[in-house]
Amino acid sequence: MELTAIRRVRASDEVYRSLRQAILTAVFQPGERLQVEDIAAKLGVSPTPVKSAIQQLSTEGLVEVRPRSGTFVAQLTAVDIRETAQIRCALECLAAELAVVRITEEELHRLKEILLRLAQPVDDETKRHHHEKDNTEFHQLLIQFSGNARLIEMYESLNAHLQIARAHGRNADWQQRLGPEAAEHSEIFSALAARDSARLSMALRKHILRAGEDLSQSLSVES
Ligand SMILES: [Zn+2]
Repeated sequence: MELTAIRRVRASDEVYRSLRQAILTAVFQPGERLQVEDIAAKLGVSPTPVKSAIQQLSTEGLVEVRPRSGTFVAQLTAVDIRETAQIRCALECLAAELAVVRITEEELHRLKEILLRLAQPVDDETKRHHHEKDNTEFHQLLIQFSGNARLIEMYESLNAHLQIARAHGRNADWQQRLGPEAAEHSEIFSALAARDSARLSMALRKHILRAGEDLSQSLSVES
């Protein structure tokens, strides 16, 4: 009994990871219908783990379950990206305001390490994947260093980085954005290290809105 239960959990975890990856890399396109039976057959599993993976993905906002209609990969429009960037901006600026007075040298050091990794050249898919992860972590740490649990929770539920990863997955010339991105990240770090709240807010605003604008434009061009 117990062994069966464990195997079932692991199957749904694996199905979840594989479906999530397919959505983030646009193997499954936004708006595409997901057929439980087809996916189960392709992955060589029963429908049960596929259903539970879809449930999990819908909590993350990556999948839309429409009753009596079907299950679809969530749409991601230029407006979605722009709106999310605006809220992200407000949350990160608030986090920065709180973090600036309480951040420790050790926490600054953790951010610095990520910055150094982000400065590495990105010339293949694996490095690009790591770059995305580091970028996400940089911003998540900023939020974490605010020490405000509700803020951290709101930021998580915004799913900004999932949306961004999906947009990146569809956009070929994302490499061109690396230049401004590196300069913006290092300005954010310098302002934080100098504990200059006004400068930090300005740097974050500029970075997040610029990135949001770039992404929503690249989506408009494609669709
Ligand atoms: Zn960033």
